[in-house]
Amino acid sequence: MKKQFAVIGLGRFGGSVCRELVRQGHEVLVIDMDEHKVNDYANIATHAVVADTTDESVLRSLGIRNFDYVIVAIGDDLQASILTTLLLKELKIKNVWVKAKNDYHHKVLVKIGADQVVHPEKDMGRRVAQQMSDEKVIDFIELSEEYSIVELIATDLLEGKTLIQLDIRARYGVTVLAIKKGEEINISPEPDYQIMKNDLLIVIGHNKDIKRFEDNAM
Ligand code: ATP
Repeated sequence: MKKQFAVIGLGRFGGSVCRELVRQGHEVLVIDMDEHKVNDYANIATHAVVADTTDESVLRSLGIRNFDYVIVAIGDDLQASILTTLLLKELKIKNVWVKAKNDYHHKVLVKIGADQVVHPEKDMGRRVAQQMSDEKVIDFIELSEEYSIVELIATDLLEGKTLIQLDIRARYGVTVLAIKKGEEINISPEPDYQIMKNDLLIVIGHNKDIKRFEDNAM
């Protein structure tokens, strides 16, 4: 069964969520009270509707109950964001994701039952800062506060060395999940895989261990 998605609020964030969902082949309903924004998405989303989502009868008439995921991407009007979230949870929507403006907004959203609260600017700011401050880190996924999957670029120090020579898991407690060479990806590389400069190593481990590996081996 195809999942049904609704995006409320077509600012830059809501708009980008909508475009990506459509790109992935999903059906997406977009709602905004600004007619111009809705017109901009009329040819992108599956359905585009002008409506004020703080009105319960409007939400009901749109059949929002049938949606599996609803993302509330209303930014500046905290009252509208909170009220919309509350109504969606009252309508028993299982997955309500909400964009929060600040920590107070976040707290209120959690209290009223938002299933996921996201801070796009804050999260992106952290990512950019982390990537800028460490040139070897190309990308990363935080699995928890302590564990991550990190994509590291191999420097001269690793050139020509095999995984067995480096003995990364025993020495640093870090596991190499895959190695990317251009477009080619080698998942679970063999122990005799010879690393070349600019290979991308995708490693998993405790943040401290990954840092230790980076500082001492790379
Ligand atoms: P971004 O940073 O993602 O561009 P933003 O955080 O500045 O966006 P806003 O522009 O304040 O967010 O709001 C996003 C959209 O939400 C706007 O297009 C606005 O018209 C819409 N919106 C605000 N209140 C409501 C409401 N009650 N019902 C429907 N849409 C709403």
